[in-house]
Amino acid sequence: MVSPLKNELRASYAGRSVSHGRAVGKALHIVGRKRQYFRAEIVESRVENEIARFRAAVTYSAEQLEALIAKPPTPNAADIFDAHLLILESSSFLDAVEEVIRHDLVTAEWATKTVTEKLVSSQRASSDQHLRQKAVDIEDVSERVANALAGGQSPLPPLPPNTVLVATELFPSTLMEFADTPPVAIITERGGWTSHTFILARESGIPAVSGIKRVNRRFDDGDIVIVDGDHGTVTVASEEDLEVSSTGAVDLGAAAFGTWETDDSTEPGFRLYVNVDSTAKVSRAVEKGAAGIGLLRSEYLFPGIKGWPDEERQFQAYKAASEAADGLEVRIRTFDFDLDQVSFGGREPEKNPALGMRAVRLGLARERSFRTQLRAILRANTNGNISIILPMIAGVQDLKQVRSLIDDEFSRLEGVKFPKIGAMIELPSAVLVIDQILKYVDFLSVGTNDLVQYTLGVDRDDEMVSDWYQSLHPAVLRSIQILIESAKKAGKPVSLCGEMAGLPFYIPLLVGLGADEFSIKLSSWSAVRRILRSVEKTQAEEIVRVVKELDTAQAVEEALAAAYRTYWPDLQLART
Ligand code: PEP
Ligand code: MG
Repeated sequence: MVSPLKNELRASYAGRSVSHGRAVGKALHIVGRKRQYFRAEIVESRVENEIARFRAAVTYSAEQLEALIAKPPTPNAADIFDAHLLILESSSFLDAVEEVIRHDLVTAEWATKTVTEKLVSSQRASSDQHLRQKAVDIEDVSERVANALAGGQSPLPPLPPNTVLVATELFPSTLMEFADTPPVAIITERGGWTSHTFILARESGIPAVSGIKRVNRRFDDGDIVIVDGDHGTVTVASEEDLEVSSTGAVDLGAAAFGTWETDDSTEPGFRLYVNVDSTAKVSRAVEKGAAGIGLLRSEYLFPGIKGWPDEERQFQAYKAASEAADGLEVRIRTFDFDLDQVSFGGREPEKNPALGMRAVRLGLARERSFRTQLRAILRANTNGNISIILPMIAGVQDLKQVRSLIDDEFSRLEGVKFPKIGAMIELPSAVLVIDQILKYVDFLSVGTNDLVQYTLGVDRDDEMVSDWYQSLHPAVLRSIQILIESAKKAGKPVSLCGEMAGLPFYIPLLVGLGADEFSIKLSSWSAVRRILRSVEKTQAEEIVRVVKELDTAQAVEEALAAAYRTYWPDLQLART
């Protein structure tokens, strides 16, 4: 255990638990809007390389600005872009960044940020209103250069040992990039239980706390912090605490449900699949005795690559996943990117990316890139164990369009098998027309993380509204039941693959609603197996009969907790 707090002056902050466990480490801020980075020191021999990266980014940014000046989107815009070009090419910016790289031995990203902050604060301190306004333009230019640097896709340096990542919002792709040197904990301001970042953190046993307001001002790089992911708190601590933890006395990343015995027999009547984001996890799922891979989030197979990976790289990755599955089915979901994740340009971010150009919509809008992914998946399907899942299907029109692309690409290939095709059901519209959708697919994957978000209109990544993110809302439960009943009527499999399916608390309810196929993360395997083994279908249906009469999520939750006390008094059933 960490030694008790020695003085009451230690700052402690309350947030929300988004991944269980407890860890002590050194804070390290992650910054950047498009591609995230941190203050990494470089060796002297890398200085010229960083300067070359910076110059290339400046040239690219200047070309972008020149193109905008030549063809301004609005009549006044040319003047603004002219001003930006002047800033970009000024020696107070260019020379200053190069000087910081040379002198401080830091990356081009960090030097750009340092110089920008200095220039902006001196403009903001000016008594001249015109100069004060110029601060915004400097930030804009700096953002453009940062985006161009991100486009260069140089890999992030490894994290130092015992790092606690601190960020307003941490991107899942950033966390994936640290797979070989993972942080011991994560602290953020934004992000909820079903945010991808925290799904990944839980999967890797990294404790995390979200909802710490103004997180960037609370900690300095190097501060020792204790992250308690069980209670959702962060405490600033001492070097001594870190030493105690490195002797192994602190329980790092304890799972919410403890470690239960594993036994690989299959529960009769249920099929248990695994959600994965890497080929290594495919092999581990096979070893556990999974029925297959119920959801491979393909966008995570290529850490460090922003945008659409090339066909060969994708082919190799899908082929490796298919082979690692040892004949079991692998359901590959096509990229569930939003626009921001694939574009580098200095364009305005979408106001509502969750409602914008993302998932299958983005695929249809960028047909050439989408065809590349479809072709790579089809080419990898020589064993016939690959299926395709299409994310964010709103209705039959999306499906018809994608099907025609798949048919077209398939017709040009030889020696490959036609895959099964499934739709992710995440939108209320898809629930309402599920009978129509079922005519065009071989199976359904119910993505409850998004289904809750879109049904209730609650941003799953916005910690502020997390009280309204209610997986037990009667509308969500009715939707799940409609989906399961409709799929069964059509004789097609339906699997539940959101975070709900990985939490034992929801399993009796889902079984009572008719679910018999679940796709869960590896770290939930033992806990879900255990509850599935002890759930009687008739008991579960009885519970559902009761909760279906209830009209609030809170009432449903209380009724479930009461039923569990009766049926499974020994089972430790936490909701999150
Ligand atoms: C879901 O939405 O429930 C899901 C499984 O997909 P993701 O979490 O990747 O959006
Ligand atoms: Mg989803």
